[in-house]
Amino acid sequence: MFESKNPQRTPISELGEFGLIDHLTKDTTIKNTNTALGVGDDAALIDQGDHYSAISTDLLVEGVHFDLSYMPLKHLGYKSVVVNLSDIYAMNGVAEHITVGIAVSNRFPVEALEEIYAGIHLACERYGVDLIGGDTTASQSGLMISITAVGRVEKGMEAKRSGAKDNDLVVVTGDVGGAYMGLQILEREKQVFLENPEMQPELSGHEYILERQLKPEARKDMVELLKALEVQPTAMIDISDGLSSEVLHLSQSSGMQFNIYENKIPIDPSIYTLCEEFNMNTTTVALNGGEDYELLFTLPIADHDKIKANPHLTVIGYVREGSGANLITRDEKVIELKAQGFKHHG
Ligand code: ADP
Ligand code: MG
Repeated sequence: MFESKNPQRTPISELGEFGLIDHLTKDTTIKNTNTALGVGDDAALIDQGDHYSAISTDLLVEGVHFDLSYMPLKHLGYKSVVVNLSDIYAMNGVAEHITVGIAVSNRFPVEALEEIYAGIHLACERYGVDLIGGDTTASQSGLMISITAVGRVEKGMEAKRSGAKDNDLVVVTGDVGGAYMGLQILEREKQVFLENPEMQPELSGHEYILERQLKPEARKDMVELLKALEVQPTAMIDISDGLSSEVLHLSQSSGMQFNIYENKIPIDPSIYTLCEEFNMNTTTVALNGGEDYELLFTLPIADHDKIKANPHLTVIGYVREGSGANLITRDEKVIELKAQGFKHHG
């Protein structure tokens, strides 16, 4: 056994998720000259000569990232793949391969795993990705799925978090906040069910946001669109933790200040009525609700004409010399954005 040299017991909460990653990886040394980009972006980049390989891992844990009382197993398999591919697309790459690690307790029958794999296969089919390996092991209690995605990025096409320049525009694909509101509906109906198991869940009318939560899609189509429009993002990230948190990641990695207009953030109309019902602030939901898996990127203002007619791409702000990120509110007040990545429920 290794003896611990340090008897201190620092709570992880003191560092937070990103502080912890920094702390654990700060002494990492790069020994191979083909490691073009290591820890700190959506995916690492390995130099393969004429192109890069992009590699990214995500781990999903029962009770932390998903709740099987409302997450169908097939959807879980599908979502596990999609959230990983999203990180490859965030590098402006094409996802090609995945490996799947799964830890499962004996409370799951073979049929349950078949369901998960039906979802995994469906995602592989839809996104043109090959399942090439993995690992299977027992777990004491919950279910865990860890997926590694590998993709290909053409040299000169790579979009890191660090490339945003003074005067660039900030653009988001699709809309944000939906996945979080879908989760609110599911949590509400779960409570109703727990109190009264006779009640049927009231889910109709919420199809869009439920799909955003239970069956998200990664924006492969947007990477293809940017290529067709001949737009090279200067920086890019996918929105997994929430718009606010991702804007701050781009700001920090690029060493630039980001300014976002509240009234430009794309939000599905159904979310306004729902936020009223839940007594929530729509902007807070759009900024801090995670799991939308949209892409957030910057591009030179000279490219504005190439994207401005496209309904899937919304300019939400601009980049300036400086640091941090600001929200310019509807009444033109400037509020500093905080890194409030939304905690996954649980
Ligand atoms: P994303 O939300 O895009 O999946 P994360 O916030 O999970 O990114 O991770 C941020 C960066 O830290 C990534 O580059 C990731 O590879 C790296 N990272 C996360 N956890 C670890 C770990 N335990 N050891 C080494 N690197 C890690
Ligand atoms: Mg990411």
